[in-house]
Amino acid sequence: MADNRTFTMIKPDAVKAGHIGAILAKINEGGFRIVAMKLTQLSNEKAGEFYAVHKERPFYGELVEFMSSGPIVAAILEKDNAVEDFRKLIGATDPSKAEPGTIRALYAKNIGENAVHGSDSDENAAIEGAFHFAGVEVFA
Ligand code: UDP
Ligand code: MG
Repeated sequence: MADNRTFTMIKPDAVKAGHIGAILAKINEGGFRIVAMKLTQLSNEKAGEFYAVHKERPFYGELVEFMSSGPIVAAILEKDNAVEDFRKLIGATDPSKAEPGTIRALYAKNIGENAVHGSDSDENAAIEGAFHFAGVEVFA
């Protein structure tokens, strides 16, 4: 994936709470173009694979259980400087530390159930996008 793309998930907490529409509106207002999107659910195994980098962290088990607990919206977003700008739009991992107006400040419940995922590098954006989408599902 080029460096003008990032990958996001609207997590099970935000989907359950009915925040899909509001979060997509924030994403559009932030200047991002949706180039791939679907409502899907991760199995326990796939969630474990997606977050494998956190395997040794104390919250890994809980994170995998949470991320497989219900449907998510997975999407690939396009914008200049997408990875960095999207991290700014979502705010800090812990919503109590997220800037006012950010997606996590508005919609996250706590540091674990924090409404959205955003890739942390261009390399991971490409890996995570390919994890969820086949080439024919991505619209340039
Ligand atoms: N997480 C958690 N407890 C923590 C830190 C992270 O449950 O103390 C969860 C949270 O859902 C977070 C995910 O693990 O979004 C991945 O953590 P990371 O540090 O990569 O945060 P992010 O990049 O999502 O801001
Ligand atoms: Mg991360």
